[in-house]
Amino acid sequence: MLIDAHIHLDQYREEEVPNILKEAQLVIAVSTDLQSCKKTLTLSQTFPNVKATFGFHPEQSLPSDRDKQALFHWIRLHAQEMIAIGEVGLPYYRKQAQDLDERPYIELLDQFIQLAKELHKPIVLHAVYEDALIACDLLERHGVTRAHFHWFKGSEEAIVRMIHNGYFISITPDCVYEAEIQALIKRYPLELMMVETDGPWPFEGPFEKARTSPYMMAKTIDVISSLKEMTVQEAAKIVTRNTERFYDL
Ligand SMILES: [Zn+2]
Repeated sequence: MLIDAHIHLDQYREEEVPNILKEAQLVIAVSTDLQSCKKTLTLSQTFPNVKATFGFHPEQSLPSDRDKQALFHWIRLHAQEMIAIGEVGLPYYRKQAQDLDERPYIELLDQFIQLAKELHKPIVLHAVYEDALIACDLLERHGVTRAHFHWFKGSEEAIVRMIHNGYFISITPDCVYEAEIQALIKRYPLELMMVETDGPWPFEGPFEKARTSPYMMAKTIDVISSLKEMTVQEAAKIVTRNTERFYDL
C-alpha cells in the first residue's frame, strides 16, 4: 500500500471517497481555494488516512484582496490541522492559453511561501517548465527548503537547482506512457521522489476512460523500479519512506 502524495479528494463524489481510500495507505489531500480547504479539512477529520494541505490553485483567476485575506486568515486559524501549504504555484497552462500578467501570481506565491515559513510547514507547488525557476528564486530568497514540486516537468537547469536544494518531486501515472517523465525518473534521485495521482485528473494510455484513483500508483512504482533497476518492493519502500519523512507523517 502506497501513499498518494497529491490528490484532490474534495473533487470526488462523497460516495466515491471510502473506496478510493481503501486503495492507499494514506492520501495527502490538497486544496484549491477556501471552499476546497474547508471540504478537505472535513475529509481529514472524517477519515484517519487523509492528511490535509491548504492553499490556492494557481490555474484559475486570482482571488480578490478580500478573499485572499480571508483565506490566509483561515489557514493561520487551522494551521494545526494541515500538514502543508498547497496546492499553490504559478499558472503555466493558463499562460499558454491566454495573455496573462504573471506578476500578481508570483506575488501571491511569494506570500504563500512566507506563510509556509511562518507556520513551519512544507509547501506543495504547481510550478512547471520555466515557472519552476521562478519558484526556485522565491524559495531560495526565503530560505525555504521543504518544497514538493508535484507532477514536475522542467529543464535540466531547474533539475540541477532543485536537486541541489533538496526539493522533492512526485511522479504521476503518466510515466507509463510519457518518455519525458521516464527520463526525469532516471535523472532525479530516488531519495527525493514521491508518487501521486493528482486525481481525479484523467490519464491516457492504459488508464484511458478509467476514473483516476490511488491503485494506479502501482503502475508508477513498476516504472520507477525498472528505470532505477531495483525490485518493486524496494522502490515502494523508499518512496513511502520519503513521503513520511518529507511530510512528518
Ligand atoms: Zn493538483
